[in-house]
Amino acid sequence: AAGVDAALARAWVAAVAASVTAHAAELTDLDAAIGDGDHGVNLRRGFDAVVAALATLEADTAGAVLTKTGTTLVSKVGGASGPLYGSLFRALGKTLSDDSSVTTFGAGLRAGLDAIVRLGKAEPGDKTMVDALTPAVAAFEAAAPSGLVAAATAAATAAADGAAATTPLQARKGRASYLGERSVGHQDPGATSTALIFAALADVT
Ligand code: ADP
Ligand code: MG
Ligand code: MG
Repeated sequence: AAGVDAALARAWVAAVAASVTAHAAELTDLDAAIGDGDHGVNLRRGFDAVVAALATLEADTAGAVLTKTGTTLVSKVGGASGPLYGSLFRALGKTLSDDSSVTTFGAGLRAGLDAIVRLGKAEPGDKTMVDALTPAVAAFEAAAPSGLVAAATAAATAAADGAAATTPLQARKGRASYLGERSVGHQDPGATSTALIFAALADVT
C-alpha cells in the first residue's frame, strides 16, 4: 500500500501480537534481570485482548483500529508498559484518518512518542522504551519521503540499535531504576519490545 489504511493497521497489530507471543519468554527474562519479570506476560495479555477486540470491531479505518488497540492496552495491561504503549497507539489513532499518508503516519508516531514522554517523564538515556522509540521516530520521519517501506525499515533498524544501546546504561526511570548501578549490563525490556513493534511494521509493509 502507498499509505496506511485499516488493512495495514490490522496487519501490523496482528504481527505485533504474534511477535510478542514468540518473544514473551525473552521479554520476561530481560525484565526478571532488572525489573519484576512480567513484561512478556503483560504484553501477551494486552495483545491477546487487542486481537480479540479487533475481531469484533466494526469501524474500519486505520484511526479506529489503532485507537482501539491503545484503549485495550490501557485497560488490560497492569504494568507500566500498558498505559505507555496504550498512549502511543491512541495518539497514532487520533492522528490517522483512513488511508493516511506516510508523512501523517510519521506525525502520528511523533505524537505517540510525545504522549509517552508526557506520561512517563523519561528522557533519552534513562534506559526505557524511549531509547528505542526516539531514534525510530526520527528515522521514520527522515525516510518518509522515500515511502512507507523505506521509512518502516529505517525505523526498525533504529529501534533495534536503540534497544541494544540501553545495555550499558544505568536506569533512571521505572522499576529498573531501583537497582541503581546493578541495572547496568542488561538490555531494557521495554526498549526491546519497542524494537519488536517496529520490526513487525517493517514485516507487514
Ligand atoms: P512494570 O515495570 O510495571 O512491571 P513492564 O514490565 O510491563 O511494567 O514494563 C517495563 C518497561 O516499561 C521498562 O523496561 C521500560 O522500558 C518501560 N518504562 C517503565 N517506566 C517508564 C517510564 N517512566 N517512561 C518510559 N518507559 C518506562
Ligand atoms: Mg515488569
Ligand atoms: Mg509489573
